[in-house]
Amino acid sequence: MAKLYFRYGTVGSAKTLNLLAVAHNYMQQNKRAFLIKPTIDVRFGRDLVRSRAGVEKKADLLVGPETLLEMTVFDGVDCILVDEAQFLSAALVDQLRKVTMELGIPVICYGLRTDFRTQQFEGSRRLLEVADSIEEIKTTCNYCHKKAVFNMKLADGKPSLAGPVIDLGTEEKFLPVCATCYTEKTASVQ
Ligand SMILES: [Zn+2]
Repeated sequence: MAKLYFRYGTVGSAKTLNLLAVAHNYMQQNKRAFLIKPTIDVRFGRDLVRSRAGVEKKADLLVGPETLLEMTVFDGVDCILVDEAQFLSAALVDQLRKVTMELGIPVICYGLRTDFRTQQFEGSRRLLEVADSIEEIKTTCNYCHKKAVFNMKLADGKPSLAGPVIDLGTEEKFLPVCATCYTEKTASVQ
């Protein structure tokens, strides 16, 4: 049986670069990797999956919360890769799980575990509940040498707990931080 994978990490942990490297490896072997991206991610143009390292690839399918997957679009596909999987709806995660079982195609989802207030996203929550394999992509805290576990938001250069949850920013706006640094730096902000 093919597996549903959730590879989570903070901002700046090279999740998308990892995804694009997997896509590249499949291509090198003349296999087809199919890229899915939630439409909420409008950072770099609607259908581009782009790493901060500058590598990019066009998404094969954009999905919204109400998307119903047509199984026929996966004909001839060897692997499905999902970028920014935290923005998937729970229903869509369940559909992807069905794809692994009914079509025997592995689905690898990359995304954040939590938002800048340390709360789970809908897609991440469902993936943590139902994925066959859960792996952490690690990176170091922006301020010390511990492992980053949270995403800290900077607004005008200062730590912030305000604003919308879905505010896709650049590297200047969200930083990977450890729990200690997150607690210290957000202690005095609302
Ligand atoms: Zn730290």
